[in-house]
Amino acid sequence: DRKKLGKIKKTPSVTIDGTPVTLLANIEFPDDCPQALDGGAHGVGLFRSEFLFMNRTEAQTQLPSEEEQFASYKKAVIAMKGRPVTIRTLDIGADKPIDFMEHTSLNPALGLRAIRFCLAEPQMFLTQLRAILRASAFGPIKLLIPMLAHASEIDQTLALIEQAKKQLRNQKIKFDEEIPVGAMIEIPAAALALPLFIKRLDFLSIGTNDLIQYALAIDRVDHEVAHLYNPLHPAILFLLSHTIATAAKAEVPISVCGEMAGDIKMTRLLLGMGLREFSMHPAQLLSVKNEIINSDLTVIEPATRKILRTYEPKAIVDAMEKLQQI
Ligand code: PEP
Ligand code: MG
Repeated sequence: DRKKLGKIKKTPSVTIDGTPVTLLANIEFPDDCPQALDGGAHGVGLFRSEFLFMNRTEAQTQLPSEEEQFASYKKAVIAMKGRPVTIRTLDIGADKPIDFMEHTSLNPALGLRAIRFCLAEPQMFLTQLRAILRASAFGPIKLLIPMLAHASEIDQTLALIEQAKKQLRNQKIKFDEEIPVGAMIEIPAAALALPLFIKRLDFLSIGTNDLIQYALAIDRVDHEVAHLYNPLHPAILFLLSHTIATAAKAEVPISVCGEMAGDIKMTRLLLGMGLREFSMHPAQLLSVKNEIINSDLTVIEPATRKILRTYEPKAIVDAMEKLQQI
């Protein structure tokens, strides 16, 4: 199977009816870039920067310095040879704890995590923003902000990005003045209030892992409720299709970077909803491409619309199976 997939390495990622689809990689470290390129990635759709902050050795200081971060981001953008690299700012807390954070929250997933933590620690956030901006002088970088839900968080984030830019300008350090800034859509409130995001940001990326967790109130790492973690719940399908369609209508680029994007059983459904950018673990790139090049949107789109009108779980599962066969 791997051998068969190897044959489509150079095949353009285009559906049978001629629709091009962008395939991006999720990475944790710059050293993951060769694997992304090997899978034919058009770029990095999600660089989970928190991995630079997690599991640090004794020899390393607690927080990675601006220089250490800059070196990592620069390494990734150079390794991708001109392809865009989307760097997500620190997304820690809950399922991604780090040593220097205090764990006092009763509900960490609903607590001070990701952008909330960064806005509470503006000096730490500014350090990361400067490191990312500096790397943008070496290749195309996009800034992705996790866990946004409130207009005030967008405003504060954009103000801090502006402040980081100003600091670099004062020091005469080069960076991309036009660096695109995007939001993860992973809190249901964000998916239901998209105009807030579309108006202020350059692109969106749906984090299905957290979107499912928060919409269904299922802790993504709690085994006792794992059986209820259902990506095919009609509420999830609604949030996804609504978000993709709304962004498309506003002509704001949108991708999915959660696990769903790398699940070949979901590829056709996401295509049918209008998704044209998938970001996934590099190991999944060729399998997903194989689905894409064997998909015909003229039949998948009407079949998807039917699934979106279906509410019985069994009927949804049956329709999904049928979708694999057309
Ligand atoms: C997500 O929530 O779907 C996502 C891509 O981010 P993470 O899994 O790192 O929270
Ligand atoms: Mg997430």
